[in-house]
Amino acid sequence: AKSDGRGIYRHFDLDLQKKIDHRLDMERALREALAEDQFELHYQPIVSAQKPQVVGFEALIRWDHPTRGRMSPAEFIPVAEEVGLIADIGAWVLRRACADAAAWPSHISVSVNVSPLQLLSSAFPNLVGDALAKGRLSPNRLELEVTESIFLTDGDGALKILKQLQMQGIRIALDDFGTGYSSLGYLNKAIFNKLKIDRSFVREAGIKKEAVLIVQAIVALASSFNMTITAEGVETADELKLMRDLGCHQIQGYIYSKPMPFQKTFELFEKKDTR
Ligand code: C2E
Ligand code: CA
Ligand code: CA
Ligand code: CA
Repeated sequence: AKSDGRGIYRHFDLDLQKKIDHRLDMERALREALAEDQFELHYQPIVSAQKPQVVGFEALIRWDHPTRGRMSPAEFIPVAEEVGLIADIGAWVLRRACADAAAWPSHISVSVNVSPLQLLSSAFPNLVGDALAKGRLSPNRLELEVTESIFLTDGDGALKILKQLQMQGIRIALDDFGTGYSSLGYLNKAIFNKLKIDRSFVREAGIKKEAVLIVQAIVALASSFNMTITAEGVETADELKLMRDLGCHQIQGYIYSKPMPFQKTFELFEKKDTR
């Protein structure tokens, strides 16, 4: 082992340099992806808990890089946020999703993930209006999914923007509920139409009694604010039964379907139900 500090610093520099190179690499690749239309949206069905009927789809971005292959949004979205490309990528997602959704039956809505930086940019409300108008989609068929982290920097600013969007008829969902900085205080501002219970709770509730109590409490709280409750990442029949019994209104997860290409979504409307 090196006992002098210089060896350690040299390692540190190398690691840092690698990170910077990787970042620059990714930034270049992301710009190229936008310019060359490498992104795609896949759609995961959101299913009513009462009867197996699709009520909407969540749009999830996909990136097949020509040489690197499929890259996970969990990996490249944070990079896009850091290098300032999230506004451009987010705008592309919104436009694509609104245009796609307009081709579905009119009772089917689309849910779009919105990054905090994107939501808080002054151009956002106009961008949404533009995407709806260009896609000829009614605002009540669009749902925006945000996470609790939107409240970290400018909570009041975020609330103002969300209210403005809601006044246009757009629904707002609180995504990944319970995983981050918990903003119970914001629940009672009656700003969210929907709460999405994170997959980690769904899985734990299938294993531990205590976790069931937590989901029960979340459902009770959200219901008292008249929110729609969606359980995310439901994979097994046991989890499905549990989430139904606990009073969740909607189910999303591999038990019904993985995210699918846009063209495949139409097969679901041809059948009576999703099973
Ligand atoms: P998220 O918004 O929480 O999306 C749900 C993720 O869980 C998706 O991963 C989905 O494919 C996955 N999933 C759904 N059901 C199941 C299940 O039953 N089991 C398991 N194991 N996973 C399930 P995906 O598509 O890889 O997206 C990861 C994250 O990337 C998303 O998490 C979201 O935070 C972000 N993301 C994806 N698309 C966009 C986008 O267009 N814009 C922004 N800002 N973020 C996006
Ligand atoms: Ca989401
Ligand atoms: Ca989620
Ligand atoms: Ca997530």
